[in-house]
Amino acid sequence: MEKLLDRLIEKNRYLTQFGQVANYIPALEKANPEDIGICLIDGKGKQYCSGAYHKKFSIQSISKVIALMVALMDNGEEGVFKRVGMEPTDEPFNSFYKLDLPQGEKPANPMINSGAIVTTSLIKGEGEEKVNRLIYILRKITSNHDITYNEEVFLSEKETGHKNRAIAYLLKNKGLLEGEVEEVLDAYFKQCSIEMDCRDLAKVGWFLANKGRILKSKEQVCSEEIITTILAIMTTCGMYNFSGEYAVRVGIPSKSGVAGGILAAAVNGMGIGVYGPALDQYGNSIAGYGILKDLSKELNLNIFY
Ligand code: GLN
Repeated sequence: MEKLLDRLIEKNRYLTQFGQVANYIPALEKANPEDIGICLIDGKGKQYCSGAYHKKFSIQSISKVIALMVALMDNGEEGVFKRVGMEPTDEPFNSFYKLDLPQGEKPANPMINSGAIVTTSLIKGEGEEKVNRLIYILRKITSNHDITYNEEVFLSEKETGHKNRAIAYLLKNKGLLEGEVEEVLDAYFKQCSIEMDCRDLAKVGWFLANKGRILKSKEQVCSEEIITTILAIMTTCGMYNFSGEYAVRVGIPSKSGVAGGILAAAVNGMGIGVYGPALDQYGNSIAGYGILKDLSKELNLNIFY
């Protein structure tokens, strides 16, 4: 398996030259665009890693998966989905499309920024408590107690996140946002700044692929029903406005982030974490996508086959 991962990394490395590191959050510009790493944990818990798998990166939009999970645990399906939809969209992840219509439109889904800002607002807790709850559950899932958020990345996005700020105020205006706008935004920017490496990410993938059980203890920390909902939303919306093509070519429930991470949960109980900060036009890791496409074929992971 390690040989296969090494081979796929080398095969897809050339793609990094066609991508670009995210620069709209200045702190992300420091990443090395040539980095690629992967970690895969099979159904039995055996780990295989290759490339720059040990490099830490901020999870960015991947945090939307965990925020959705905690929001569902706190509020139930109805409480969450009356404020955010479950429909894919062909608009980019940071769009405020439909948020300024006179009718009661809600954000399309929880995997784009507008929807995720709503789910973050639904997480119980004041101030720092929301992000602390996300960090707590991520530490539990990964058994890595060093997981925390990166202050520099947080401040960098807080300073430059004007579009997210505009989205949040529109949501507030529509009555879709609980609590103080700036407090919700701080929680959202902090959750995006949580740092992990490919191994941590693969453990989160394993947790999802095994319906809410923790790799180390096998403890069930979330209902199977919630995980099933999350996996369906990852499949239809996890790669933003590339989710349709990704489903055709890869067919693994996945979620990407603009720092270059991709979290994937395969049907056979396999968890995968990929890193490659050079992004394509949709904001997905360009080489990460290439690797997952190949891996899906090699290991028969496409859920539609
Ligand atoms: N923090 C980023 C933002 O809100 C997350 C977006 C992403 O990873 N696609 O713009």
